[in-house]
Amino acid sequence: MGPESDDVVRFWERLGLPGIIDVHTHFMPERVLRKVWAYFDAAGPLTGLEWPITYRYEEERRLELLRSFGVRRFTSMVYPHKPGMASWLNGWAAGFAARTPDCLHTATLFPEEGVEVYVKEAVEAGARVFKAHLQVGAYDPNDPLLEPAWGLLAEAGIPVVTHCGSGPAPGAHTGPEPIGRLLARHPRLRLVVAHMGMPEYAEFLALAAAYPEVRLDTTMAFTDFSEGFSPFPAAERGRLADLGDRVLLGTDFPNIPYPYVHQLEALERLGLGDAWLRAVCHGNAAALFPADGS
Ligand SMILES: [Zn+2]
Repeated sequence: MGPESDDVVRFWERLGLPGIIDVHTHFMPERVLRKVWAYFDAAGPLTGLEWPITYRYEEERRLELLRSFGVRRFTSMVYPHKPGMASWLNGWAAGFAARTPDCLHTATLFPEEGVEVYVKEAVEAGARVFKAHLQVGAYDPNDPLLEPAWGLLAEAGIPVVTHCGSGPAPGAHTGPEPIGRLLARHPRLRLVVAHMGMPEYAEFLALAAAYPEVRLDTTMAFTDFSEGFSPFPAAERGRLADLGDRVLLGTDFPNIPYPYVHQLEALERLGLGDAWLRAVCHGNAAALFPADGS
């Protein structure tokens, strides 16, 4: 689908990969996505920062693009900002996964009555990954209402991609401390720290070092855009290399203010080598989400 796809394909072909896996992409009900785009248009996340959406296309075109990039599996990260929304989003995401076989069945949660019921239902219906957004949802991951759900997800070994860092905007419950308390109670929870925990990179890498089931996704980290306001500390490079089996490619497609290939170039220029890139862009996610669903 044009020169841009060629650039992405060249990236993974050079590495000898069959394609890439992107654990952090957004597909959601159309009117919810429109609202998200309006939020970025108003520079909601960071006052004064331009955030032009590069891939503001109809759903079908967005899917075609991802496939033309050679993205073999991706997610439909949905997240509620208020009660009464998660179960509905989960219904939509289940339908989307059913009609989109290369999308991992995604679900979400919120601290509310009945959360353990719809989380259990989503797991039984085959959800492979959850998304939690502590900044948009403005909730404490230690809310007692969530306790049974976290236990269930830890038990089932289902990864939960969690926006828990304080970037690009902090929330009352973002940062390493609240999520650290959650992990202390649920050490086997497969928490995937979104955006490498930006801007608290060092603290979230330390959590990953302490808890073997904690992973991080690369979403928007290391790009020119993020380096401009939240640079990754050079002193943490070594730990990034050491935890190479715990880092997963994520991008935030389609809500990104630069071309998709830039995320890949941003990873390549870290200079951590081809084996690291192969693990991050494919191997780690392939192991976490085996194709047979087992
Ligand atoms: Zn995202």
